[in-house]
Amino acid sequence: MPAKVIDGNEVSALIRKEIGGRVEQMRRHGIVPGLAVIVIGNNAASAVYVRNKIRACEDVGIRSFRFDFGESASPEDVLSVIEELNNRQDVHGILVQLPLPPKFSIGSILRTISADKDVDGFHLYNVGGLVVGDTVFPPCTPYGVVKLLEHENITIEGKNVVVVGASNIVGKPIALMLMQRDATVCICHAKTRDLAQFTILADILVVAAGKPNLILPQMVKTGAVVIDVGINRLANGKLVGDVDFNGVKEKASYITPVPGGVGPMTVTMLLENTISSAERAIKQKSSV
Ligand code: NAP
Repeated sequence: MPAKVIDGNEVSALIRKEIGGRVEQMRRHGIVPGLAVIVIGNNAASAVYVRNKIRACEDVGIRSFRFDFGESASPEDVLSVIEELNNRQDVHGILVQLPLPPKFSIGSILRTISADKDVDGFHLYNVGGLVVGDTVFPPCTPYGVVKLLEHENITIEGKNVVVVGASNIVGKPIALMLMQRDATVCICHAKTRDLAQFTILADILVVAAGKPNLILPQMVKTGAVVIDVGINRLANGKLVGDVDFNGVKEKASYITPVPGGVGPMTVTMLLENTISSAERAIKQKSSV
């Protein structure tokens, strides 16, 4: 039987509806959750992502503040805006859209964002939280993957999980988050020898390599859950993931499509992190 296709748009819409309700409740008490988005340079893909994030904020009632810097801006100017935003009461989340132009140090920018407003979850404090299982802001894409698994009632505990891709923003955090949920996790990367000998063991296979058709049906165990995080634009303009969707669908029990799987969840989890940051700020204020 072909796999159930997990509809990321549908799950995302359910979560956004719930977030909208939480925002409305806050607004009734005179508080508007706010997200600051900093864009440096003019990367075309970043422009699309930022537009989507701002539109998603509007849809659920989160106020967004956008700050644009040209490539010639000085890193000090950006850092001083971040420091101002750290102290603003109406800003509950700060994100700097990546990638950055070469002269900017990603480390110093991410370290300057207050860990209390780091809704992307990239600050070292939040990364450390992932390691010890006490995360304040889980990074959005891995968080979205976990939410999809939870939505489908897929058991994680005791499962063999193979993550293909070991980046700091997707592969490593998803591996840590699933390990925290008592899965047995293996991480593969570009230098892994004979990828298939690992992927075939996976009950849950998460693929985030950015390589179209990397995962073929013969590399997947019958009945596996396959989560495709990859986004690749082919020469013909088609958007595809890292998994041979049509082939693997016939073997897996669940599979995410590209587009319409993990993608919509990433922005949704940014909204979730922003509203929970605002809720936390209110709680802290009222307990003082
Ligand atoms: P990245 O920083 O380029 O990392 C790619 C990872 O995949 C690296 O660890 C790399 O190994 C590994 N890899 C590359 N080729 C491989 C191969 N042939 N076999 C096994 N591993 C291989 O990319 P990323 O930022 O993690 O993103 C990964 C993919 O997810 C991209 O397609 C990206 O567009 C997509 N993405 C989607 C979303 C979403 O919302 N759906 C969000 C973020 C990213 P090494 O470490 O050895 O180089």
